[in-house]
Amino acid sequence: MNGGSQRKGIAANVCEVRSVGGSGHTISRDVDECEFGYRKSVFQTNDEIITSVRMRFQPRHRAEIHSEMLTILTDRSSKFPRKQPNCGSVFKSNPTMYADVGPPGAVIERLGFKGKRIGGAMVSPQHANFIVNTGNARARDVLALIAEIDEATRSSTGHRLDAEVGFVSTDGRIVPANTVQLEMP
Ligand SMILES: Cc1cc2nc3c(=O)[nH]c(=O)nc-3n(C[C@H](O)[C@H](O)[C@H](O)COP(=O)(O)OP(=O)(O)OC[C@H]3O[C@@H](n4cnc5c(N)ncnc54)[C@H](O)[C@@H]3O)c2cc1C
Repeated sequence: MNGGSQRKGIAANVCEVRSVGGSGHTISRDVDECEFGYRKSVFQTNDEIITSVRMRFQPRHRAEIHSEMLTILTDRSSKFPRKQPNCGSVFKSNPTMYADVGPPGAVIERLGFKGKRIGGAMVSPQHANFIVNTGNARARDVLALIAEIDEATRSSTGHRLDAEVGFVSTDGRIVPANTVQLEMP
C-alpha cells in the first residue's frame, strides 16, 4: 500500500519487487510496473505474494538519521492518539481536496466531529482523522461514524472522502470502509 509519512512513501526507495503468482511462477517488477500511488500499488488488487524487495538508500551519518527519526517520532506522538486503540488514519488525503480545503483531519475537525461518539467509537479529540475505541466499539459503530463524516464532508466541501481503512468482508474481500453498507440489527 506504499506506506508513508511526511508526504513521502516507501515506493521512493524501491527498485524491484519480486512476487509469486497464483500458479506458482515468480514475477519481477521494476518500480514503475508496481504502479505505486498514494497508499496504492498493483499488489492490492492482484493475488500475488511479495517475496522480496530490492531498495536503494542514500548513505548518511548514523547520528543524523537517528536525530531525524526522533524528530519525526516526537511529532507523531504529539499529534496522533497513541494510548487508545484505533485503526490508523481513517481517510486518505486526496491532493485535489488538500489544495482546496486542507487535509482530512483539519476538514473533519472544522465540521465539529472531534469527540463525536457512536456506540463505543469516538472521533479522537486529539486528531480528527482517527477513530478510537473507547472500550466496547463494534465494527458497525466505526462504519457509522465513517459514513456520517463522509456525508458531512461531501455536503460541506463537495469533496468525497476515500477511506484508507479497509473492511474485511465475510468472503475475505477487503474494501474501503466507506463503501460498506452493514445491516444494522
Ligand atoms: C495506529 C496506526 C497508524 C498508522 N499510520 C500510518 C501512516 O502514518 N502511514 C501509512 O502509510 N500507514 C499507516 N498506517 C497503516 C499501515 O501502514 C497499514 O495498515 C499497513 O498495511 C500495515 O502493514 P502490516 O504489514 O502491519 O499489516 P498486514 O495486515 O499484515 O498487511 C497489510 C496488507 O498487505 C497484505 N500483505 C501482507 N504481506 C504481504 C505479502 N508478502 N505480499 C502481498 N501482500 C501482503 C495483507 O494481505 C494485507 O492486505 C497506520 C496504521 C495504524 C493501525
